[in-house]
Amino acid sequence: MGQGLAGSLLAWHLLLEGKRVLVVDRDEADTSSKVAAGLVTPLAGARFNLPPGLEERLDYARRFYWEREEESGLGLFHHRRIARLFRDAREAEAWSARLATAGANYARFHAPLVIDPTRFTIPHGGFEMLEGGWLDVPAFLEHTRVYLLERAAYAIGKVESGEVDVSARGVRWKNVEATAIVFCEGWRSADNRFFDWVPMRPTPGDILDLEIPELADVDRILNKGGWLLPLGDGRFRAGSTYHPGGSKTQPTEVSRCEILAKVAAITSATTTVTRHRLGLRPTIRRSQVFMGPHPSFPRVYFFNGLGSKGVLNGPWHAHRLASHLVRGEALPPETDVRDPFL
Ligand SMILES: Cc1cc2nc3c(=O)[nH]c(=O)nc-3n(C[C@H](O)[C@H](O)[C@H](O)COP(=O)(O)OP(=O)(O)OC[C@H]3O[C@@H](n4cnc5c(N)ncnc54)[C@H](O)[C@@H]3O)c2cc1C
Repeated sequence: MGQGLAGSLLAWHLLLEGKRVLVVDRDEADTSSKVAAGLVTPLAGARFNLPPGLEERLDYARRFYWEREEESGLGLFHHRRIARLFRDAREAEAWSARLATAGANYARFHAPLVIDPTRFTIPHGGFEMLEGGWLDVPAFLEHTRVYLLERAAYAIGKVESGEVDVSARGVRWKNVEATAIVFCEGWRSADNRFFDWVPMRPTPGDILDLEIPELADVDRILNKGGWLLPLGDGRFRAGSTYHPGGSKTQPTEVSRCEILAKVAAITSATTTVTRHRLGLRPTIRRSQVFMGPHPSFPRVYFFNGLGSKGVLNGPWHAHRLASHLVRGEALPPETDVRDPFL
């Protein structure tokens, strides 16, 4: 239930396992998935950590998106180098320290910076981040929706958790009966009677569409804390704001200025804002995914918490959850929503 990134990824995995699904979605504008830039940034953050399982999840995600492209003929995942420009001397030092202590682990992810220093502001240097890119998330969602519609597996609607009846044999919602229901509601899970105890902390994020004609030939992603994503013909997406615990639901002038300041730190080229949107990232514990059955209702499931790394982490987790649902395989313990310390 819910056709954002989480619901879409899980639906694909269940269909690929030969299962029947019905995905019900509210069909809202400006959900987290519809607003997201879709970036895959292997070395995110100012300390350039290599998160546990990164390579396995990255390889899995790229293969998964590539298979969707191959079967649809659509361009969904765009492999792009990321010019990672250091914000200050501390970041440059942090990167040097990483290479000095664990260089072999990073070899796959970097190359020397190749960029015209007269067009960008690069006082502290940087590197080319490899193995990243971006998913056109709205295109992926639309491809998924059409695929589901063709299989009579999609409906527009709002599933109220109070309308879901659970018995030992299965679940029932209106006239739909199923062996299980999986709630993939993003930040709205806070209103779900089964999962309102999960500490969901939506993180608002603003994002801008820009025109920068001077940079029309740029084809790589630029990242200096803030990022610029080239969409072609001098059009860019820029972002984003990340304020955990924020409660706003509409884009604000303050956030617009914050993003434009980030862009100005990358380039002094003239920019025109053409669109400003806001989405609410479903954040539970940073970008850690939580999933699995309800502690008391084993046919009622949760798949959520993709945070700011849904494109990279989502496919691997959807695979693990589908394997659990279909074959009873164990969930990765750190993702289990039944964790009493959640
Ligand atoms: C500004 C911004 C930039 C981002 N950039 C990136 C990025 O570069 N890379 C990245 O990986 N991630 C990024 N993210 C995060 C990414 O958007 C999320 O990780 C991911 O999209 C969350 O997907 P979801 O399916 O869990 O939630 P959602 O996208 O919120 O989807 C939930 C869906 O369920 C539906 N729904 C909810 N309740 C009900 C109900 N009761 N009945 C029926 N349907 C319901 C909603 O309408 C929605 O369609 C960004 C987010 C924002 C806001």
